[in-house]
Amino acid sequence: MSLDAELRFRIAAGGPMRLDAWMAACLSRYYGRRDPLGASGDFTTAPEISQMFGEMLGGWLAHVWLAAGRPAPFILAELGPGRGTLMADILRVATRLPGFAEAARLWLVETSPALRARQAQVLAAHRPSWAGRLDDLPEGPLFVVANEFLDALPIRQFQRADVLWRERHVGLENDAFCFVWGAARADAGLDGRFPGAADGTIVETSPTAESVAAGLGARIASGGGAAILIDYGAWDGTGDTLQALRRHAPADPLADPGDADLTAHVNFRALAAAARPATSFGDVGQGAFLERLGITERARALARGRPSSEVEAITAAHRRLTHPEEMGHLFRVLCLLPETAETPPGFTA
Ligand code: SAH
Repeated sequence: MSLDAELRFRIAAGGPMRLDAWMAACLSRYYGRRDPLGASGDFTTAPEISQMFGEMLGGWLAHVWLAAGRPAPFILAELGPGRGTLMADILRVATRLPGFAEAARLWLVETSPALRARQAQVLAAHRPSWAGRLDDLPEGPLFVVANEFLDALPIRQFQRADVLWRERHVGLENDAFCFVWGAARADAGLDGRFPGAADGTIVETSPTAESVAAGLGARIASGGGAAILIDYGAWDGTGDTLQALRRHAPADPLADPGDADLTAHVNFRALAAAARPATSFGDVGQGAFLERLGITERARALARGRPSSEVEAITAAHRRLTHPEEMGHLFRVLCLLPETAETPPGFTA
């Protein structure tokens, strides 16, 4: 059955679906069947723009592993590794630190069969294992990276209705999918999280992203390790940020379910709160973070002695990753560490 037909059936039988259920159905179909990245796909990510992004993260991970006393063995995990590009760049740098390669057990948390196949090719030399969920990773100190993973998880949306809240659902009207609001209800959790939200304000929560952060925080606080989470969003905020992208252009999130990338901004404050007792650092802008880790020096080194066309490409990639009007500000970095850890590189001026 096509996803379109399946969703129509579900709504006809059970009434309007909650937005997170709709998104979960669309996203698993979307990611399950294709490689959505790059020029021929729907969107591009920082590691696909330049090797410099992963190299900076490789240096960062090597540093925090060293600062943690070189635990061995340890789990090196990536959530939503896409084409495997980021992890390949990370490992090229981090494995220069003596002992890192020998101690690392590489785990990729990925649901998409299409992308698992791609990761298997790119990362074969590092003998990765795969898990479908964070909870399925083996025990041990856990060092995790996730880039543009949390924005791809389902969200719930609510609208303030006087002192109550109504939840957004997807229904059917004249045979077309449409947004509908559920009945207004009291919700003390939302009142506490979004104090003073004016009538009509839309707010978002991501129970899945928060449970990922809670899982990471609990493991890192008790067993050691670190998590570095990079995504677009903000420390906190309100408003409707649901977005569909197809072939690098905005699309209607309700049209052709399963055929467009659906994303929402990440609320870093909610992640940091969910991750306690782990300590969080940030959020900081991706641009400032990469600058502090030395991306400009790295760009210069890569450009040295290269023909001018390559120098221009390196300069353009550096700008795209760091400039506040490009990915430098909207993309944010949050890190989770054990309670006693010192401030890691990139998080202080
Ligand atoms: N981190 C990569 C890819 C980002 S796209 C990059 O920066 O290029 C999002 C990734 O998360 C894809 O690999 C997708 O298949 C994976 N993904 C999406 N939802 C997931 C889920 N619920 N569990 C595990 N992986 C998921």
